[in-house]
Amino acid sequence: MLKVEKVTVAYGRATALREVSLVVNDGEIVTLIGANGAGKTTLLNAVSGGIPLKSGAIWLDAHKLSGLPLHKTVRLGLGYVPEGRQIFGAMSVMDNLTMGSYSLCAQNRLSALGYIGWFIRRPSVQSNLELVFRLFPILRERLNQHAGSLSGGEQQMLAIGRALMSSPRMLLLDEPSLGLAPTLVREILKLLARLRDEGLTILLIEQDATAALKIADRGYVMERGRITIEGTARELLGDDRVRQAYLGKAVA
Ligand code: ATP
Repeated sequence: MLKVEKVTVAYGRATALREVSLVVNDGEIVTLIGANGAGKTTLLNAVSGGIPLKSGAIWLDAHKLSGLPLHKTVRLGLGYVPEGRQIFGAMSVMDNLTMGSYSLCAQNRLSALGYIGWFIRRPSVQSNLELVFRLFPILRERLNQHAGSLSGGEQQMLAIGRALMSSPRMLLLDEPSLGLAPTLVREILKLLARLRDEGLTILLIEQDATAALKIADRGYVMERGRITIEGTARELLGDDRVRQAYLGKAVA
């Protein structure tokens, strides 16, 4: 589904990605592993459209993503859950979810005034909302609350829910467990596995590499802007280099 071909990205003179290539197949969870500064977030931003490529190309099925801005990649089927969640704290939970479906509205070229009526009637928006509430029942209870007043775990659920509102085929997640208690981390990762089982394709950056590999199908290790190791999740969990550098002693 996603193909990254020899992508190089630079911030001024500093090269952050050097000829990075990877694929994510339909229905897979693929995880990116690497130390701070390895280039994982830059890669996700390059895919979602946040930063221009110096060279290389990115494809989502037959669509060339390279050079497209974020709002266009969302319309092509990418859902992005950025690092630090970036929810709209002063807006209600419902308004945050509504914002997530805006790309569906923009596709129909509606004016802002026509939007609310369209939103309420649109079957895909309703079914996306039902999906979000089924996955995160707590959000239904918090619907009119300011998003900024939610707990860290609830905010992460909202960030994922907001991304699901655009009917994505593929979800990009940047460290969804950041700042969450271990039980919540497990809950969020279990949920990602469930979404994959329901047909969503996922590219995941996760600081808890062991937990990520336990739900992933495949993974890539990044070091200083390059892919250095790739394999199935099982292969990476058993790879001595990966175990020593990224998995600690927790892996049996
Ligand atoms: P982390 O886990 O800390 O987020 P990462 O693997 O996601 O790390 P990136 O954030 O992609 O790594 O950073 C890759 C390199 O690019 C680092 O050397 C970083 O300092 C640099 N970098 C990232 N963003 C910028 C920026 N906006 N301007 C300049 N350099 C940047």
